[in-house]
Amino acid sequence: MKKKTMLLYLRWGLLALFFVLVSIAAYLHQVFGGGQSPSIHALCPFGGLESLYQLFTTGSYISKIFLGTMILFAITIVLALLFRRSFCGLICPFGAIQGFFGKLGHKLFKRKSVMPVKLDKPLRYLKYVVLVITIAYAWKTAGLWMAPYDPWSAYAHLPEGLANVWAESAIGLIILVITVLGSLVYDRFFCKYLCPMGALYGIIGKLSPFKVVRNENACIDCGICSKSCPVTIDVQHSFKVTSAECLNCQICVLKCPKEGALENKEGHKMIKPLTVLVLVMAVFFGSIFAAQAAGVYNLTPNPLKAGESITYQEVKGYMSIKEAAESTKTELKVFYEKFKIPENVPATTKMKEISNVSPGYDFDSVKTSLESK
Ligand code: SF4
Ligand code: SF4
Repeated sequence: MKKKTMLLYLRWGLLALFFVLVSIAAYLHQVFGGGQSPSIHALCPFGGLESLYQLFTTGSYISKIFLGTMILFAITIVLALLFRRSFCGLICPFGAIQGFFGKLGHKLFKRKSVMPVKLDKPLRYLKYVVLVITIAYAWKTAGLWMAPYDPWSAYAHLPEGLANVWAESAIGLIILVITVLGSLVYDRFFCKYLCPMGALYGIIGKLSPFKVVRNENACIDCGICSKSCPVTIDVQHSFKVTSAECLNCQICVLKCPKEGALENKEGHKMIKPLTVLVLVMAVFFGSIFAAQAAGVYNLTPNPLKAGESITYQEVKGYMSIKEAAESTKTELKVFYEKFKIPENVPATTKMKEISNVSPGYDFDSVKTSLESK
């Protein structure tokens, strides 16, 4: 097998691996709760961006976000500065889902569809609008207000059952279905048109010295690069790819049949696709391992020390009623009254699952209505 083909498989293999690992993490979160297993929000760099204002103004993080999430966010910003949207093209599990469905779509329909230019151009700006709105509201409300509309969050909560996901984030689920079906027809549907994080990496990537460069003298004008680009960049007619849309997925470079026609350059230095893959993985996972070794990569709340307690606002959905009462140092009976929990709900019930026993119970609104203890 040719080295370039092997690298293409390696890229798909890595994306599949990250997708499986994050899916397992999402499942474990549903089983063990956020006290032991990080939520999908804690694992997503976007949570770091959403928490940035809160961090600068109060020194704390918004709910479900921890220092580890901020570190993840910082690592991906460094990646964007060094290798543009390489997080999107080589690591992001939600990008991977779209890539796999894109492949399936090519197999099913035997062709690659391209959105009409008149629709494609304005739609590409939509992700910048999503970025501004999501950040403005997240910073204003100091919360993950977007979670019910987030397709990745909807995916991660599927182990809870379709009915639950529908009840909690119907719009997120609809966008997930649109993304999957859209990716069958149009490659990287969500990345191109809706992803706020991709929009930010694209803007920051503009500062990066990294680019894909076409050597006009070596190019045989076969057009394979343009045809294979998942975000439909016209590589064949570019001298260098500096578009904020480029995912640095390396597909064009790896599929180019002519040696030396398409190359990666970091500044003036040529780097091989394998080196790009290795460096991106080294920066991303090396930084995570370094943060872990330094003991700062926490994605779950620190366990309470003896004598410590939490406020009512800090009660989490994954806690059982009994656990929450103990953590707030409140007598169980008083806790039931404070949180307006009907008496027939067993104390072993998780706070977020009270509504399963007592329909209509809204944990979040009861919690916010309570004054700090
Ligand atoms: S230009 Fe090349 S590296 Fe950039 S997104 Fe398209 S195929 Fe991937
Ligand atoms: S795939 Fe390579 S040879 Fe073909 S048009 Fe693109 S750069 Fe030129």
